[in-house]
Amino acid sequence: SKAPVNVTVTGAAGQIGYALLFRIASGQLLGADTPVKLRLLEIPQAVKAAEGTAMELDDCAFPLLQGIDIFDDAGQAFQGANVGLLVGARPRGKGMERGDLLEANGGIFKPQGEAINAGAADDIRVLAVGNPANTNALITQNHAPDVPAERFNAMTRLDHNRALTQLAKKLNVSINDIKKLTIWGNHSATQYPDIFHAEVGGKNAAKAVNDQAWIEDDFIPTVAKRGAAIIEARGASSAASAANAAIDHVHDWVNGTPEGDWTSAAVPSDGSYGVPEGLISSFPAVSRNGAWEIVQGLEIDEFSRGRIDASVRELSEERDTVRGLGLV
Ligand code: NDP
Repeated sequence: SKAPVNVTVTGAAGQIGYALLFRIASGQLLGADTPVKLRLLEIPQAVKAAEGTAMELDDCAFPLLQGIDIFDDAGQAFQGANVGLLVGARPRGKGMERGDLLEANGGIFKPQGEAINAGAADDIRVLAVGNPANTNALITQNHAPDVPAERFNAMTRLDHNRALTQLAKKLNVSINDIKKLTIWGNHSATQYPDIFHAEVGGKNAAKAVNDQAWIEDDFIPTVAKRGAAIIEARGASSAASAANAAIDHVHDWVNGTPEGDWTSAAVPSDGSYGVPEGLISSFPAVSRNGAWEIVQGLEIDEFSRGRIDASVRELSEERDTVRGLGLV
């Protein structure tokens, strides 16, 4: 039988953590034949709540779950980690400027990068979920210089999944009929969900929609502002859907994406599509042999160019800010 995979989850006692851990332990992250060991990281005041979640995990008697350890120290939590899901982050407080938010998150993600560099397994794969996810991933990566840069991703899969459903509803088709949708840029309100390269039943999706006003005034803002709409409706931020997207991202990273399709992942730019090298930006991506490849050769029209550039500009500004703070 296979050796267990060590999965470190930060912010494990939070809302997303609660939705995520049971799915990891049940085999949905890595597959039904891969045993897992969970390593939960929390801040000291949340360790007790994490212990409660661990009790519930025990009570599920998951056949694949081979152990749960709880830490309040990043250095220990990332020892031997094969997968790191960085969920815990500093939420934006009232009146907090973006610079303050980035600085507070630097205090979280810098030590985690150092811990990954020092103690994680050679095949470590890291997904930043906590916001601002792209720049948190960048900070983490910068403090783990011995780990290949491409092992640090940020999550735009929830945006991708949200866009799939909006498009499927508009065209009255099944999710399974839609291929090659793309989220570009930052996981923020500037993100660009692109259906100009998407296919529906083998035909171009934008042509099938045939309604530029819907794309600009309805589809794009609905996807970009979906998080706020969920807070408004539920009285709490999306958690199960965010956890689901994290599962999808890592599952595909490890196991590959299906032939004839791609997904969206924020990965370090190699300069493709004019995105400055090194920025962790969302691209159309396929996973082969355990690594992402940015889909090449797509023609970008003027409308898409403007949207991609705007989101990438925001990422560059975030990078400049954390550079100014000495975090990267
Ligand atoms: P959640 O579990 O709801 O969210 C965690 C993070 O995920 C937030 O940064 C949130 O961003 C982000 N996120 C990304 N995408 C989404 C999405 N689509 N919907 C909602 N959130 C999204 O937060 P909780 O407050 O419930 O839990 C956070 C936990 O993290 C706490 O238990 C806290 O103690 C812990 N923590 C742990 C740290 C550590 O391990 N070192 C450090 C800091 C906190 P946004 O704020 O923008 O919604």
